[in-house]
Amino acid sequence: MIDTHVHLYDQAYDADRDKVVARAKEAGVSRCILPAIDQDTYHAMEACLKSYPGWCYKTTGVHPGSVDGEYKAALDFARSHTADAIAIGEVGLDFYRSEEYKKEQITALEEQIQWAKELNLPLIIHSRSAFPELLATLKKCSFPGMRGTLHAWSGGKDIFTEANRYGRFYIGIGGVLTFRNARLAEVVKETNLNQIVLETDAPWLAPEPFRGKRNESAYLVHIVEKLAEIKNTDKKQIVAVTTQNALSLFFSKSL
Ligand SMILES: [Zn+2]
Repeated sequence: MIDTHVHLYDQAYDADRDKVVARAKEAGVSRCILPAIDQDTYHAMEACLKSYPGWCYKTTGVHPGSVDGEYKAALDFARSHTADAIAIGEVGLDFYRSEEYKKEQITALEEQIQWAKELNLPLIIHSRSAFPELLATLKKCSFPGMRGTLHAWSGGKDIFTEANRYGRFYIGIGGVLTFRNARLAEVVKETNLNQIVLETDAPWLAPEPFRGKRNESAYLVHIVEKLAEIKNTDKKQIVAVTTQNALSLFFSKSL
């Protein structure tokens, strides 16, 4: 399994990170992708990459929650740290708490999609309460070879289908699927397994039976179990296909 979205550098793991990694490996997690947030978390991310080489992979980008009046400096920092990055992320739009920096978030996303184009890298996209603006931005900035994950997906199948008119996108499925969330289960049911990747978004969004507690990559097994149930197939098939999806998206340069 590949955890395509885990904030392993978060301070929630400072006391026992080695054990968390050992449990993930034990559970069958072969690689992890660490999405960047901003300059403040960059050094913790770098330390994590050094501790678990060949297992953790870095991305670069500015999270929409970190876009404010100073966003240009944040973008400069992220743009100057693209070495070894396997994706641009996590980037996107989040108007859930505030629309104060709506314009800035859209401009920052547009610029970072441009980096993905220049560097031929996939995007890791965060979108919350912003689907019309996200689709408009993807449409405006679309380029041949645009691809990525729509992480912690909370949109409908129609929005996902439209996003795929502008690029090749996968939905990132994590703990929310195990909550009593009929809508997401419905979207997953209607979506081809070839368009799904696994993610935890740990330390947040722990699946049942750990809901509300600290999440970790080892819990991907609970997501796999739920996916197998919804897709009416076996867990081996879920792991094989989602791992292949993540490999082709993040670990191959081909389009
Ligand atoms: Zn995240």
